[in-house]
Amino acid sequence: MKTEKSEALFARAKKVAPGGVHSPVRGFRGVGGTPRFIESAQGSELLDVDGNRYIDFCMSWGPLIFGHQDGDVAEAVKSAMTRGWTYGAAEPYSLELAELMTSHIPWVEKVRFVNSGTEAVMSALRVARAATGRHKVVKFDGCYHGHLDSLLVRAGSGLAEMASPDSAGVPPHVAADTLVVPLNDLDAFRKVMDEHGHEVCVVAIEPLPANNGLLLQTGEFLCEMASITRKHGALLLFDEVISGFRVAFGGMAELTKIKPDLVCYGKIIGGGFPVGAYGGRADLMDLVAPAGPVYQAGTLSGNPVAMSAGIATLKKLLRENPYARLEEKTRVFAERVQKAAQKSAPFPVQVQRFSSLMWTVMGAPKSRDGLARSLPEIPEEQKARFATLFHALLSQGVYLAPSGFEVSFLSTVHTDEQLDRVIAAIEGARYE
Ligand code: PMP
Repeated sequence: MKTEKSEALFARAKKVAPGGVHSPVRGFRGVGGTPRFIESAQGSELLDVDGNRYIDFCMSWGPLIFGHQDGDVAEAVKSAMTRGWTYGAAEPYSLELAELMTSHIPWVEKVRFVNSGTEAVMSALRVARAATGRHKVVKFDGCYHGHLDSLLVRAGSGLAEMASPDSAGVPPHVAADTLVVPLNDLDAFRKVMDEHGHEVCVVAIEPLPANNGLLLQTGEFLCEMASITRKHGALLLFDEVISGFRVAFGGMAELTKIKPDLVCYGKIIGGGFPVGAYGGRADLMDLVAPAGPVYQAGTLSGNPVAMSAGIATLKKLLRENPYARLEEKTRVFAERVQKAAQKSAPFPVQVQRFSSLMWTVMGAPKSRDGLARSLPEIPEEQKARFATLFHALLSQGVYLAPSGFEVSFLSTVHTDEQLDRVIAAIEGARYE
């Protein structure tokens, strides 16, 4: 496989951007080697600058549930472009997207659009603090909520592969207001809430933690956690930036029937364009300016092109309801991946899946029920063993997210023939 052009671009990029990239995991630090510079993408395929084609399972980290350049999204965006691409004024497109959400997701009574998942979570925390007059936030060990200071504590995503789980540059007094609890551990959560519950404005969780592997939580844990949160007068924030519109239109809240007070979205809601959203109870959202005293604004918020991409995506999800189909395709594929990986790996392999997300545990999870549900249950060898699998697949034209702590996403356009090729590539992987 030729990589000269990617190598040359990477060398140039390192001179003008930190690590040569504009978001850490793209830099391949977690797997080693040269990041492939992608020139174009179509359907479930990436094409790099050296002419190599890859079956894509990163899928831009989740937004592309219908694949790259979906025809309906493309048409909506092209049509939007003929009307101008930003007005900085009230417009009907964000209204349409907001109504699509509020009419199908009852716990989102009002919504505010922003430009990223990070902004959505950051703003939702501000609302929670204003609403309760309390300052402390509870988050779970390994959940990632974007790069806002206060939640960059024991987070996942790009931090999962760094030596220290915390970022430099976060003031200690900001981190001190964040209480971190292990996932799937009700006793630990109860203890923290018994001690600090009266100071806690919000309990924030990825109900499907998918930024440090796919750490499946039990329904019992999620329900009990929600009820303990309420008992202490704290608000419940579901970060559905990945799971929203991915596992069901209404995300994990729909599947678990747990109604969050506040919920954050990103990724699919923008159809691949930069959109985030926070929403929830009307009385809480009415605290946001200009209705209320919580300031939050954005030059490009509600951008009409991005809104049009989001509208096209959400309408298509409602029209086609692809969830059962996509889940079945992923279920069958995940079983085949597990078997194929087990054939070639000299250690136990465990594929964890939920809906159209999957993650391969490279070793036996250190848990009672055989599934990794919290950080310490991930085998120590995860990073190194995944790097071997990653490069074995990359050389065969399969692009996984370049980190052993990131999940794979299936889309509606991955074909059976492509999935067969992936299985063959996994069987051919060689470990030292
Ligand atoms: N929350 C979750 C659950 C996420 O997965 C992410 C991004 N992967 C974010 C928040 C931050 O979103 P963004 O990268 O758009 O700022």
